[in-house]
Amino acid sequence: MKVLFIFIDGLGIRGTSADNPVNKAVCPNLCELIEANGCLIDACLDMPGLPQSATGQASLYTGVNAARHMGRHLEGFPGPTLRSLLNEDNLFLKLHRRGLRVKFADAYMADRIEEIEARRFKSVTTVMGLTCPQVFSFREDMLANQAVFHDITRESLLAKGYSGPVVTPAKAAEHLIQLAITHDFTLFEFFQSDLAGHSSSLEEAVACLQTLDAFIGPLAAMARQANLLVILTSDHGNIEDMSVHSHTINPVPLVVFGPEAEAFTVGVRNLTDVTPRIMRTIMQ
Ligand SMILES: [Zn+2]
Repeated sequence: MKVLFIFIDGLGIRGTSADNPVNKAVCPNLCELIEANGCLIDACLDMPGLPQSATGQASLYTGVNAARHMGRHLEGFPGPTLRSLLNEDNLFLKLHRRGLRVKFADAYMADRIEEIEARRFKSVTTVMGLTCPQVFSFREDMLANQAVFHDITRESLLAKGYSGPVVTPAKAAEHLIQLAITHDFTLFEFFQSDLAGHSSSLEEAVACLQTLDAFIGPLAAMARQANLLVILTSDHGNIEDMSVHSHTINPVPLVVFGPEAEAFTVGVRNLTDVTPRIMRTIMQ
């Protein structure tokens, strides 16, 4: 079975409200998937305070409650304690050790692994990727349409001197599907949603969700045709409540469709349940 994991940073679920852009008018494909194939899971991890990215993502990709491990929710980039938790074991390593072909589809604007290693600030997924460096995608992979830039269309690269082609969300979806059908496990991480959520601009949040939705729609259709198991989730709420600058304690969606999807979500409670379910499902 081939698995495509879509990670969307800062996507929570909350009731209808004028300051909640996660609705059918803005992102019909995403809302439909959540309604038809989704359940809600807890991102607060039994710890007080607002959930944050470093501990949320580490929990998601290790199956260990990283917030409890740290004694608090940790934002941004993982420090030494979380890095050592990730270095010890993580989803990429678990899959790789079982001989599976793993791909991190997000293109790094780098030419060599050493450039990624040298980065001062490393996200959870970068730390995880460095434990099995063959998963990374580079600039040349993106230019060969064998990787997807994290903003989906590459448009955010234009301001940084990029002069290559931009792509439509539907084209980017095609590129991602090609990767997913040639690997056992493919991860795509989208974090513009968290940035838009922090922006306090409803307009920015809507534009971000519209791009995401134009990607998710064709992606879901192609994934069904290719019989992929698709998993979509987040690390904490944010963009669903534009009345606050911060993250939220709202639950996050866990959308699963494709082979073995129904069994996957039974009894899933929070972020720590996702990696064990992936391992159980993919090793069947
Ligand atoms: Zn954030």
